[in-house]
Formats: sequence, structure tokens, C-alpha cells
Amino acid sequence: MSAATERYARQAALPEFAHSHERFARTRVGVIGVGGLGALCSYLLAGAGIGELRLSDNDEVSLSNLHRQVLYDLSMLGQTKTACAKQRIAALDPAIQVNTYGALTDAASFANFAKGLNMVLLLTDTQSSRLTLSDWCLAHRLPTLIACVSGYSGMLALFNYAAPQFIAQHGCYRCLCADNPEPAVQGILGPTAAQLSAATAQLALQFLNGTLADKLQGCLTLYDFSTQSTRRFKLKRAAGCGGCREYAD
Ligand SMILES: [Zn+2]
Repeated sequence: MSAATERYARQAALPEFAHSHERFARTRVGVIGVGGLGALCSYLLAGAGIGELRLSDNDEVSLSNLHRQVLYDLSMLGQTKTACAKQRIAALDPAIQVNTYGALTDAASFANFAKGLNMVLLLTDTQSSRLTLSDWCLAHRLPTLIACVSGYSGMLALFNYAAPQFIAQHGCYRCLCADNPEPAVQGILGPTAAQLSAATAQLALQFLNGTLADKLQGCLTLYDFSTQSTRRFKLKRAAGCGGCREYAD
């Protein structure tokens, strides 16, 4: 058995994922924010064999991160999270190409980051940044997975901005929460962040593999990790949303 065959043997034993690692090796995913959600999520995508990961964050590892950002440890304090995540992924599988970026603060830096990507995972920790970055993902027609977590609650939604039909029906992230106030920062348990990271990575892999169940297309899932319960809603385009109007047909 070759090393590649052995590495992915258990993943390939799932009939839907039998040849996934060959497809994933040619797949490029951008992860914006490699903190509580993005760090573990990136590691899981690397484990699945995603060929290229582009990691964007300008934050450094601090002591208060370590209870939930399990990629990082005491030896990494003060170092940039993207460099530390790259180091951890290289130790897992040096064949995975990891490119690191600072914060994407303008459309030009985003365009450089986004070129040729198959998908973006938008995992920053403020709603204002998610709104701006989602607009840019939409302009570049990139399938975009958005997740956020606060206290015991998490949200996960896939916006397939590559499909005009999707946008016409389900809209954009701005349709969903443009009018909501910025949520207050709350405490969080490590497992809460880890569970939503894993759910995000799972959804991304199923989408990239072309095997995402129809009932999950165009859906928003809300998690309450204090009761291990989930609620699912269909996303619906907001008629007055200026964010996605020009992309909806
Ligand atoms: Zn919209």
C-alpha cells in the first residue's frame, strides 16, 4: 500500500469519499481567521488532503487563546497564528501547500488572496468584518462558508455565491444580518469552538466533494451547545438587499 493510499484509507472507505483525496489534492481553500474556529478547521481540511490552504489572520498567539485554539501551545506565544498553523500542518503532511496572509483589509488584498480558490471559509470574529468579506466573496463568485460562535451558540451557513440561482433564492450574508447589531463578546468553552470548527470542516468537505445533501443547500444551522440542540432554517433572499441584487440573475 502506498503512503498516500494508507494515509487516506479510512476516509476512502466511505463510498462517497472513495476518491476524494485525489480531488482534494487539486482543491484550494481560503480560511479567513485562524483563531477559535479557523485553526482547527484548517487542520482538519489538511488532514483530509486539501492541496492548498491560504490562511489569513494578523493576530498573534496569546495565553488566553490556548484553552480553545488547540493548534497552538506555549512555545508559540507572540508568534503569528498563520505561521504557527502552517508549522503544525507541515508536521501533519508536508505535501499540503500552506500560504499565509495578513488581514485582508481592502479589495485588492482580497483579490490577491482569492485568485483561483474553490471555496472560502469566513471565520473572523466580528460581524462587521464578515459582512465586508462576504461582499468581496460574492463579487468574486466564491462559494463561502460562514461560521461564528458566541457563548454556547454557534451559526453555520453555506452561501454558494458561485451560483446565480442560489443567490436569487437564498441571498447573501448581508440579507441575513445586515440590520443586526454587532453581538457582544461573550465567554466560550474550548469544546464549543471545537465542535463548530468540526461542523464547519465537515460541511466544507462534503461540499467540495460534491456530496452535500440537498436539504443542507441554502440552509442556516443554529447550534446551542449547552443543550446539544440544533435548529435549521432556509435562507431567503431579502427583497431590499442591495448587497446581492446585481448578482441574483
Ligand atoms: Zn443579500
